[in-house]
Amino acid sequence: MQNRRKFLKNSLLTVTGAGLVSRSLPQSLVGNESAEQDTKFVYRTLGKTGIRLPVISMGTGNTDNPSLVRQALEKGVKLLATAEAYQNGNNEKMVGSVLKDKPRDSFVIMTNSTDINLLDTQTGVYNSGFDPKVYMQRVDNSLERLEVDYVDIFIQPFAATRESVFHEPARKAMENIKKMGKAKYLGIATHRLEHEAIRAAVDIGMYDVIMTAYNFRRQNKEELDDAIQYAAESGLGIIAMKTMAGAFWDREKTKPINSTAALKWVLQNKNVHTTVPDCSSYDHLNQDLAIMANLELTEEEKKDLEPPSGDVSSGLYCEQCSSCIRQCPEDIDIPTIMRSYMYAYGYRNLDLARKTLCSSGLRTLPCHDCDNCNVKCTMGFDIRSRILDIARLQDVPEDLIRHA
Ligand code: SF4
Ligand code: SF4
Repeated sequence: MQNRRKFLKNSLLTVTGAGLVSRSLPQSLVGNESAEQDTKFVYRTLGKTGIRLPVISMGTGNTDNPSLVRQALEKGVKLLATAEAYQNGNNEKMVGSVLKDKPRDSFVIMTNSTDINLLDTQTGVYNSGFDPKVYMQRVDNSLERLEVDYVDIFIQPFAATRESVFHEPARKAMENIKKMGKAKYLGIATHRLEHEAIRAAVDIGMYDVIMTAYNFRRQNKEELDDAIQYAAESGLGIIAMKTMAGAFWDREKTKPINSTAALKWVLQNKNVHTTVPDCSSYDHLNQDLAIMANLELTEEEKKDLEPPSGDVSSGLYCEQCSSCIRQCPEDIDIPTIMRSYMYAYGYRNLDLARKTLCSSGLRTLPCHDCDNCNVKCTMGFDIRSRILDIARLQDVPEDLIRHA
């Protein structure tokens, strides 16, 4: 008979697939040798930092392979985006093992050291448990894992409301990090109320860089584009994340999103200076770099970005608009749970999915007692079934996920 641990592991593997693999590639794009050989680089300047970067950088959060990171740097990638939260610091360690052999001016490293449990996920404001001394120790731990004396860009993640950016303890802590030489530049990362967070980051006057969720599934594109333009014209560097919009159209992963088209879509906006697509294989790396040969979005690629069979409720990416929250009588933090759903089914990053799910504060499951879910998602998702589905991850022990 299976013990509980084995049962959970088997269910886990069945439901979400094992390992740190994210995108599937359309067959025509797998192992494109000629594209690899002919790689041409397109550079943009990261705002007032003056750093020239290829428009393709690397999000390292979905890989544990140092050889892949090394190869990315050897091929010309400059910026690596990691975070303490990825694989419990092990992602920073893995990246550090590569960086230690490289001249310090040959790469640009960006990280953050925030404990997500100290944040109100809906507003991005730190709670009363935030301690600047502990925070500074976490920053030092990140530097140690990365084997560097300073990072090029240090990020305050989860910025959302204006208050989260102007929050005094966070502001002071960030300023100290720069003052003490632990970071050359400061930035915010935002994937909720982005337009508000971006404008606040400009207005506070202490930030150099913004990393924002930005992809073809955004329904508030105009509002977001205006905020991005405001920031770029004010001299801030703009980095786009969540560019693959969840990587798949379906939970079963039978319909991969054309990631070349998705990346090209993002780069049509000249105010976006670079992108950090999650990269977990050599094929991903080659495919992402190859798009620089021609950034033009073809008519066929534009069609690929339309939901299959016109089903607008397809896809795993929740744009975090928060309009669902006020509709749920139980006040569940649905956007955070939907992000967890995307990390699990789209990125297959169970560790991040579980962490995100736990940060939503979901302990019991009120959805079980609701006969009908009245929540109307702006993207058409079946909220109740997605919550009940991903909530199972709460029961899986953390160490099992790490070793699955
Ligand atoms: S309404 Fe839909 S898209 Fe908006 S935050 Fe809620 S789940 Fe996400
Ligand atoms: S089913 Fe869940 S999400 Fe929907 S209204 Fe009930 S508690 Fe809220």
